[in-house]
Amino acid sequence: MRKRLLAAVAHPDDETFGMGGTLAYYASKGVDVYLICATKGEVGEVPPEKLQGFKSVGDLREHELCCAAKELGLRKVVFLDYRDSGMPGSPENHHPNSLMQAPENEVAGKIALLMREIKPQVVITFDPVGGYMHPDHIAVHKATVAAFKLAADSNYRTNGLPPFQIPKLFFHIFPRTFMKILVKWMPLFGKDPRKFGKNGDIDLTAILAEEFPIHARINYKDVAQKREKASACHASQGGDQQSGYFVTWILRLISSTEFFMRAYPPAHKNLREKDLFKGI
Ligand SMILES: [Zn+2]
Repeated sequence: MRKRLLAAVAHPDDETFGMGGTLAYYASKGVDVYLICATKGEVGEVPPEKLQGFKSVGDLREHELCCAAKELGLRKVVFLDYRDSGMPGSPENHHPNSLMQAPENEVAGKIALLMREIKPQVVITFDPVGGYMHPDHIAVHKATVAAFKLAADSNYRTNGLPPFQIPKLFFHIFPRTFMKILVKWMPLFGKDPRKFGKNGDIDLTAILAEEFPIHARINYKDVAQKREKASACHASQGGDQQSGYFVTWILRLISSTEFFMRAYPPAHKNLREKDLFKGI
């Protein structure tokens, strides 16, 4: 039986900066790794010189994702062709094609169809706060959880495909321990932990208000180089300077480990898995 993993994210770079080590690790073990990316990151800030030769920001970032997918060893990337909604409060939130404006059941229907086609044993997506409260991440989380149920629902019909119960569902988690240290230390250096990140639009204190259990740790030390190369593909997002997702950058230096909460089957609080496919 071939092992298949499906990851659902919102923007080109989410697959690498958040969970790239895990995706590369499983691809290197012969697992077919599929990626759903809901938008092309059209609203991301891009240095003008990086846009040369591309029609648009979306075009450039699609190219960067294809480059990263090759480095990580992904089997296939599927775009859902929504538009990046930008950070909360930005005018891009109201664009008619933005992911935020799409009805949840429409997005979930697209993902459920792919789930029935691919039949993954493991699905990964964002946690309920979308990692750092990005509205598109939260939308993908909700749609993926809904799709997970739809895919198994015998009353739900899509393209004549039979229902499929995916055995395991995980949420990618940024561990809070390190974030807590940052929130304590940043003010000492004159920095505001509520204005974290490249664009100052990440509120670490709000993220810390929500805590999620860690049920699985994936050590990707053996493929760390693949992850670094994939990161470099996302040059327009600072991935080539190793600044993409500062928190994971530090974690990468320390431990080459990515962290997950198991959403299905329900986990007892002391669960510690080292392999997302355990039991399959
Ligand atoms: Zn994102």
